[in-house]
Amino acid sequence: MNADSLFARYARPELARLFRALNLDVTYQAGQGDHLIRRSPDGSAAGDRVLDLVGGAGASLFGHNHPALLDVARRCLDEQTPFNAQGSIRPGAAELARRLSEIVGATTGTGYVVTLGNTGADAVEAAVKHATVEHRRRLGALEEEAELTLRRVRRDGVADLPVASGPAAGRPCAEVLAETLDRIAHLRRADPVFVSLRDAFHGKSAGAGTLTHGGNVPEDLHVPGPRHRRLYDWTPEAVRGALDAERVAVHTVTVDSAGVPHSAERQLSPVAACFVEPIQGESGVREVPAETLAALRELADRHEAALVFDEIQCGMGRTGTFLASENSGVVADYYLLSKSLGGGLAKISALLVAENRYVADFGRHHTSTFADDDFSSRIATAALDLALSYRERVTEIGTLLRDRLAEVAAKWPDAIVEVRGRGLLLGVEFALPRPGSALLREVFDPESLGYLVAGRLLHAHNIRVIPTLSAPTTVRVQPSALLEPADVDRVAAAFDEVAGLLSRGEYATVLEHLTVPAAGAWQPRQHVPLPRRDRPA
Ligand code: PMP
Repeated sequence: MNADSLFARYARPELARLFRALNLDVTYQAGQGDHLIRRSPDGSAAGDRVLDLVGGAGASLFGHNHPALLDVARRCLDEQTPFNAQGSIRPGAAELARRLSEIVGATTGTGYVVTLGNTGADAVEAAVKHATVEHRRRLGALEEEAELTLRRVRRDGVADLPVASGPAAGRPCAEVLAETLDRIAHLRRADPVFVSLRDAFHGKSAGAGTLTHGGNVPEDLHVPGPRHRRLYDWTPEAVRGALDAERVAVHTVTVDSAGVPHSAERQLSPVAACFVEPIQGESGVREVPAETLAALRELADRHEAALVFDEIQCGMGRTGTFLASENSGVVADYYLLSKSLGGGLAKISALLVAENRYVADFGRHHTSTFADDDFSSRIATAALDLALSYRERVTEIGTLLRDRLAEVAAKWPDAIVEVRGRGLLLGVEFALPRPGSALLREVFDPESLGYLVAGRLLHAHNIRVIPTLSAPTTVRVQPSALLEPADVDRVAAAFDEVAGLLSRGEYATVLEHLTVPAAGAWQPRQHVPLPRRDRPA
């Protein structure tokens, strides 16, 4: 069996079937800078050089196999750096955490404690867990305080005294405290609530998948994760007051030096954290306005919840600033990074928690076998240097690319709806063609359009794109910081050609690549694994 058939048989049957149907079942044998080198059909020689605009779904801001990062990787191997030294002090993780804290802190003015993980979803899960423990401990501390006051007022014989001032004035002191304790206990028993936005993408693990909206995942593949509220309306007014009904008022009591009880009101909430991508990547590259980020800040504060900026795709210098949220002026409590943090070579993610919120024993209990390894950490530390050094270049080449694509969009308004994004996180939304033929209308459905464009760009122009995950009529344009102006010319010309074909209704040419005979044999849709006895030995 060749690799295509093995992949289809043993790895990802349905995806392999889709790739084959779309003539996108190609194999790359090497990656160099912004290019992937195709394997020739018989594997004997290097095939075409393909300009890669998928960029590892945002993970290769520094291109494929950047020499500075390869150097670090080689040094790790030459020095026999231990990959596995769990249960010891990890110098690579320590240095990476310090650098991340300093770089993000330079914008936000705060220090961070950094929890390293392996994937983006892993960082999201860590944030969910940290926000949960933070939330529970805060309620726990409040409960303890109220219990202590109740004990004191009983001891001091003022339990039945009416509260002298505040919202609970006139009511017996112990009764007010008992009610407060009851409400806190009720909140502590309930699971915390997590908030995310319409069209958000935060990963596909069970917990992160709950925060994700859509993501092109079938209903029955969804595992109910933590309690969750989705904000459909992004307007600042709607966001600010979105969860007011969830808040619970409690009365705290303090006894003054003369033994007189006074009350104050405090709002508690089941909301533990609000998640947002400052630029939504997978939903077609959509910037969340700074006013909405500011409203989310207010929302989080009103609920004493953590504000989490998921910069897994948009951060790490991809938009020309280290954090995509930098210019919004809004500061989060937690930051998530991954993708380009690994420099395209390592699988690594980071959760940064502002040090004044960090729960000290979190890092003792939230562990993972591969987290903190020196190999990934050292590569990521070198990737941070690259991210900082490429910021201007990303802005320059990204602006040029966006302007050129916007020109194409303006020329073919029937074919391209919009070009969105910043820096090297761009998305080009294609309009759904309306061919006269009913059969062709079936072919150009919203799920396929981006893949058909991808096929034309690959086979006619040696340019690689794929659609964003939850908005498949938008193709992602996420090249590396190494992109040259000549590459921009090539990209603009290729998009111009495809958009022109779509606009003029020249569908036969758009679909030409589908008429090439497939390399392997066609396989029917295969959902059911073979019974054990039928599997090859
Ligand atoms: N958050 C965001 C913003 C992402 O774009 C992604 C991946 N596309 C994730 C989380 C999940 O990352 P991973 O696929 O590494 O789990």
